[in-house]
Amino acid sequence: MDLRKLIFTQNDCYKTGVKMKVKGIMLHSTGAPNPFLSRYVQPDDGHLGKNIYNNHWNMSNAEAIRRFGKTLSKCCHAFIGYLKDKKGIATYQVLPWDHRGWHAGSGRNGSGNDGYISVEICEDNLNDKTYAMAVLQEAKEWAAYLCKIYKLNPLGKDVIIDHARGHAMGIASNHGDILHWYRKWGVTLDSIRKDVKAIMDKDQPTPEPKPPSGKTLYRVQVGAFNVKTNATNYMNKLKKDGYDAFVVQVTKDGKQLYRVQVGAFSVKSNAENYMKQLQKDGYDAFIVQVITATPTIKVGSKVKVKAGAGTYTGGGLQSWVYTTIFSVMELKNNRAVIGLNGTVTAAMNINDLILQ
Ligand SMILES: [Zn+2]
Repeated sequence: MDLRKLIFTQNDCYKTGVKMKVKGIMLHSTGAPNPFLSRYVQPDDGHLGKNIYNNHWNMSNAEAIRRFGKTLSKCCHAFIGYLKDKKGIATYQVLPWDHRGWHAGSGRNGSGNDGYISVEICEDNLNDKTYAMAVLQEAKEWAAYLCKIYKLNPLGKDVIIDHARGHAMGIASNHGDILHWYRKWGVTLDSIRKDVKAIMDKDQPTPEPKPPSGKTLYRVQVGAFNVKTNATNYMNKLKKDGYDAFVVQVTKDGKQLYRVQVGAFSVKSNAENYMKQLQKDGYDAFIVQVITATPTIKVGSKVKVKAGAGTYTGGGLQSWVYTTIFSVMELKNNRAVIGLNGTVTAAMNINDLILQ
């Protein structure tokens, strides 16, 4: 994504300055065959090129009426299209993201302007698949970016919609964008949503499965509390923010301490990426190194018998023993008595047991 910013300070929507609680993303396309950003976004910043007709959207309604005899009571949050001379495709942010836009109109259930961040994708003649897919990809990356910022689930019901879907929901005027353009290439709202999710997942550092015991792990610590409830509350807040947090109880100077940590990485740089993301989200995060203890067999442990092993004294065992999970009933040095439901099965060498 090539995200740039040029806020439409002259547009009445910007001047009205109403904030909203973000709940989703609405995709539009312009409905006019002009794929250049300069048609809508001005003044020229050197990358856009100059709009010689001056019919862009960065002006007040009164100015638009004065110049063209046409109203301009509309404003989306972003435009996607060509830069000057088709030197690449870019996204221009033209309103603050949490600013209530004027893009959806309304329907029987209200207005999508309340809660949806919007983009207008600049249409061309609607036949150039390469252009269409390039601007759609830009829109998906933009949507993924916003879903992360606003903790939106792109697969959630009507989190990502287009204008046509908004109309069907009763929150937008009767328009067919954007699928009127994309349908012929097999694009659906669901395919867009899935692609956005995939982009988010790819960017996300993947927490690794716990490596075998006795290894060094890197975790990201975000808090330490004396009171367990405080630690749990903090953990829940992190979980709400999408982090897989947990509480680790430790004893320090004879006192209980509850550490709130996230992730378990065997590669330090993965932990560092995760830490940076947490810091971006406002958490006071740092990396802690943990050596995981090698789990040992104790009385009460669940164990299996190694294939072919004999008893402690070298006696044979029936075949079912090798496929059964036993409890350790007694343990002395390397001699373990195993059994089922309190009944002894055999005495075994601890080295012939596998901890479950
Ligand atoms: Zn639209």
